[in-house]
Amino acid sequence: MTKGRRADLLDALERLGKKSIRATDIAAQYWCEKQMELNYLKGPEITKEILKGKEIHEELENEANVPVVLQTKSYADFMYKSLYTTCEALETLKKNNRSRELLLYGSLGRYKVVGKMDELLISNGSVVIVEDKTRATDNMPSEAQTKSHRAQVMLYKKLLSDILSGEYNEDIFSKQYGIARLAVTREFERQLDALQIPKHMQNLVQITEKFFKSYRSLGKLSDTLVIRYINQFTGKKIDNYKFKASDEEVRGTIDFALKYWKGEREALPVPYEEKWKCEWCAFFGKECKVWFPQRTLKAS
Ligand code: SF4
Repeated sequence: MTKGRRADLLDALERLGKKSIRATDIAAQYWCEKQMELNYLKGPEITKEILKGKEIHEELENEANVPVVLQTKSYADFMYKSLYTTCEALETLKKNNRSRELLLYGSLGRYKVVGKMDELLISNGSVVIVEDKTRATDNMPSEAQTKSHRAQVMLYKKLLSDILSGEYNEDIFSKQYGIARLAVTREFERQLDALQIPKHMQNLVQITEKFFKSYRSLGKLSDTLVIRYINQFTGKKIDNYKFKASDEEVRGTIDFALKYWKGEREALPVPYEEKWKCEWCAFFGKECKVWFPQRTLKAS
């Protein structure tokens, strides 16, 4: 047994039936780890706020990128479309200094990690990561609220740095995802023909190479990370939250989150000072009663 690991705690990935960790999982851990786990075990709660946020993201994507219309029939088609769409977004970035919805793949120890950055900008010759978050008011969030957003953007910084430096590359990715064994369907090939994609580029090996080469040609990553807060009702920007994160801070943030995935600890509920979050949680008083006895009773 690994030091510090309890016998009854399996690797969380196995327990939750997942194959990889998403960047949004790490962000959710910094909101409430227990809620993140319950979302997988019991099914997520899709709120009106989540749907509104999705709508705003789609509008912004259509505004910045050329839409890619490809119908997928298999996992290989899906992988091709994902890689191709990001290659196209990287082309847009080089042309317009701005692009949206760019996929990232990487590794954290033995775990595969996947993320999708909302936006990349080129500013003063450096690549800037921008993450959009929607809010119900025009006020900027509190420190407790930005914690999970910061963690997500820090993870993007780590994944993007690893791709730019070649530490995570096409060879590692191809092994992890069995790229050489995947072939797109005939129907999908016909759609690629219609998009005038040359025959020699219509396979996973070539599009994987293009994906990593395109990223590596971007150049330097900016030290500044940006979270852009948007009013979910008006769609207008509230303000940018800019910050810098040292490699040490990024490593510390990720290492703490990984302890859960490795099964070294149970999912943590929010601390006492943040029990106000429970009032907004679908599991409060049902699947999770950690702070239920201390709830603020509303006057009848
Ligand atoms: S009730 Fe509170 S502690 Fe429990 S899962 Fe929800 S937010 Fe986390």
